[in-house]
Amino acid sequence: MNDVIVSKFGSAAFSTPDMIMKTAQIILSEPRRRYVIASAPGVRFGIPEDMKMTDMLFIMNARYMNRENFDEMMTQVRDRFVDIVRGLGVGFDVEAEIVQMKKNLFFGKGNDYVVSRGEYIMSKILAEFLGWKFIDAADFVFFGRDGTLDREKTFAAAAKIFADTEHAVIPGFYGTTPGNAIKLFPRGGGDITAAITARAVNAALCEKWSETTKIFSADPGIVRNPAVIRNITYEELKQLTYMGINVIHEDVIFLMQNIGIPWRIRNINDINDPGTSVTADLPEESHRSVAACIAGKRNYRIIHIEKFGLNRLTGIGVKVFGIFTERNISCEHYMSGIYRFSIVVKNPLFDLKRAEILAALNEAIKPEKITVEKNLSLITVVGKGMGTTKGIFARIFNSIAEAGIKVRMIEQGSDDLNIIIGVYDEDYEQAVRALYSAMILPEGE
Ligand code: ASP
Repeated sequence: MNDVIVSKFGSAAFSTPDMIMKTAQIILSEPRRRYVIASAPGVRFGIPEDMKMTDMLFIMNARYMNRENFDEMMTQVRDRFVDIVRGLGVGFDVEAEIVQMKKNLFFGKGNDYVVSRGEYIMSKILAEFLGWKFIDAADFVFFGRDGTLDREKTFAAAAKIFADTEHAVIPGFYGTTPGNAIKLFPRGGGDITAAITARAVNAALCEKWSETTKIFSADPGIVRNPAVIRNITYEELKQLTYMGINVIHEDVIFLMQNIGIPWRIRNINDINDPGTSVTADLPEESHRSVAACIAGKRNYRIIHIEKFGLNRLTGIGVKVFGIFTERNISCEHYMSGIYRFSIVVKNPLFDLKRAEILAALNEAIKPEKITVEKNLSLITVVGKGMGTTKGIFARIFNSIAEAGIKVRMIEQGSDDLNIIIGVYDEDYEQAVRALYSAMILPEGE
């Protein structure tokens, strides 16, 4: 490991020339920041109906494909880059890039190529402004035939390309297919490019600078002034991502968690804030209580299937899961009692296909009774050691009982990272507040 920092900047960092200058200042204020992953320009503050460049390019390509007028959008794309280049005072030829893009659009290079030009052109401009080298992600990020990242080829190419590069700007969000076409990662996928780069240069740290305000240990709309999460492990972050709190792209966690490179989430609008560190293990000085965060979602359904002797039958789970899988509805959780097997689902498709699903379950299992409970909220108490620390369950249940709330279900994650509590939607907010007071202690703030 060396002392290099890889920094990914989200779209807000490139929304206007002023923001780009501020971004450049951040980059240059720390000599260890040597590799920068850029996003396409973001929404400009105070301009109603302004769009992210990535969205503009998606729309432009769709219009072209539908034989609608796409020229207007192309002009808007060009004008945004021209504004940026003028504002920064760099001699970058935007027109040449736009002509090339248009030519390739007509050649049928496809949606992903067109959309990737947002990051591509922005990175070239930033490289010019900083006087750094531009390295195209297409030259070291490779997808396999199955559409997933070809890790081996990518890491080998990345190690080679960065070996003799002191400083570089790299466009995030895309790579090359075996057929030599450009392919995008999922939205927010510039994070993945940053993770690949950080691995390739064996970075000491990977940073993500965005507009995301602080990462709170509970929803500030429910809990007043919740503590900010200063330290979190990759494993814990996976739980938060599952609950819909998107801090870094999920695929990054899988790329990074076992190689000892920490991430730091920083806020571009609050550069003095130290942000949140994501590490494999919590640092010694992090004196938080067991739980890191209380996260939750409403509007689940539980389907209870009751049958005498169910405990002695084999293959029940396979049949039940099969019925949901065939209809593309994922079973988020399941519970089994002696005579009862219950499935928790969230997908609204369940309501649409309810009659059909219940008929299929009746046919396959021949139960005595099937009931569906609605309006269930699941609250996850996330934290390493949730299952193995003494007294956790008592704390959870006392807090919920004291608040006079009925618990509908409880599940302890087998990975020792979470405990899930199911309550009725009407009790959701009160339960979150009760659990917050019982389980989260501010980290010495
Ligand atoms: N610009 C892309 C998006 O909006 C990728 C990224 O920002 O990471 O999703």
